[in-house]
Amino acid sequence: MLETYFSAPKMLELLRSGPCGPYLDGFATALERQGYAAETAVRYLRAAAHIGHVTAERDASVSDIDLEAFEQHLRTCRCPRAKGGRRNHHTVYGARLFRRHLEEISVCKPAAAAIRSVEPPLVAGFRTWLSKHRGASDATIGLYARDAVSIMAELETDPM
Ligand SMILES: [Zn+2]
Repeated sequence: MLETYFSAPKMLELLRSGPCGPYLDGFATALERQGYAAETAVRYLRAAAHIGHVTAERDASVSDIDLEAFEQHLRTCRCPRAKGGRRNHHTVYGARLFRRHLEEISVCKPAAAAIRSVEPPLVAGFRTWLSKHRGASDATIGLYARDAVSIMAELETDPM
């Protein structure tokens, strides 16, 4: 599957050699199924190989892939192999998609952050209210709900 996106034997070898190598074909298939353009998929696959390399450097295994550690690494990244994988939103987003893919195939446990971001029922109600009584757009509702979640996190058990 990787051959669909990369033709240089050296590049293929490089991608397959990292700790994430065994998962890249499956990730490529998932990206194609989700309709990503080839040039985008190439960036995301490189990002996946990059985060694998960083994970190995931290002596962690693929199941412990840490997006925060990766973002931190990107700030000072000097990996000679990271060609095209420099810090930009594609790299970060690609790594995130890869992490999610690993969760879907049960290699990684869902990130703690994802559990934390589950909305309290009060915020869900707030969304409904915004839409019904204020006619707010989905984008606006998303922003308000995000703010509401962080305000509630600060107020903890006493939102009133
Ligand atoms: Zn790097």
